[in-house]
Amino acid sequence: MKKSLVFFILLALGAAARLAALPPHFKAAVIPEHLLPGEPVSVAIAGAGGVNLRLSLVNAQGRLAKAVFWTLFPRVFVEGNIVQAALLTVPSTVKPGNAALRIENGDAVIKEFAITISDRKFVSEEIALNEWNTELRAVPSSLKTQQANRLWAILSRAGRDVYTVSAFAPPVPADTRRTGFFGDRRVYRYSDGTTDSAIHAGIDYGVPTGTTVRACADGKVALAEYREATGNSVVIEHLPGVYSIYYHMSKLAVKEGTVVQKGRVLGESGATGLATGPHLHWEIRVAGENTDPDICSARPIFDRDALLAKLGG
Ligand SMILES: [Zn+2]
Repeated sequence: MKKSLVFFILLALGAAARLAALPPHFKAAVIPEHLLPGEPVSVAIAGAGGVNLRLSLVNAQGRLAKAVFWTLFPRVFVEGNIVQAALLTVPSTVKPGNAALRIENGDAVIKEFAITISDRKFVSEEIALNEWNTELRAVPSSLKTQQANRLWAILSRAGRDVYTVSAFAPPVPADTRRTGFFGDRRVYRYSDGTTDSAIHAGIDYGVPTGTTVRACADGKVALAEYREATGNSVVIEHLPGVYSIYYHMSKLAVKEGTVVQKGRVLGESGATGLATGPHLHWEIRVAGENTDPDICSARPIFDRDALLAKLGG
């Protein structure tokens, strides 16, 4: 047998294996198709009930992010099929260019959607830390490790409840002066002259101590405690695997497990934990990934109506 024929047969077998995984009534819709680093992507999938779906963002460099899944609305059907919802975020470190959203059943690819990721410039800055802040950031402690592990365990978990699909509202007035931006490329200069670099995960608002901090959307408080690195901190889950985070507060006004409405007072801003002055740090995570809070405030976090219209059309 000729080499090219062998190759063709193998290719055909591969294609058959891939197609075999496609459920017969499968439909999927994606919003948006042109993305910025840090932007969340919403996907609705019908006709794949009972299938062990996976969704990831991929490009030539490999798998960039994975999605959280939930059953969108138990009473919503498209052509008699249950609709599943998924959300993921384009990491702020992704290179611009062509990418794809890959839907898999186990390890078999069901479908890929081509998307494009635009170029985005981020602020570069250097932050000088005094001895106190240097110790907070650079010297390990078992308490810090324990608190970091607990936070990561929360952020990488997805509950079942959908508290909101609406746009978020900033936790302090939207026109408040900012002292830090999403995706800032930061160099921390320690008191001994050495440095470390990090990417800023949220927005810093330069508010004075005692400013009211409000929940950005309906949700359930997943964490409300004093943390060495971030001071008085609150974490709220709004959708499965979608969290908002508030750091450095002087006072906390909510407890873990409380269901809160958008605008509910969470506490007062301050300068607790690693802070060079009073400010509020506000951050959004989707499936563990840092997500641009401004984009979450500009449009629904999950645009149910637009996705269902796209699925049905
Ligand atoms: Zn910050």
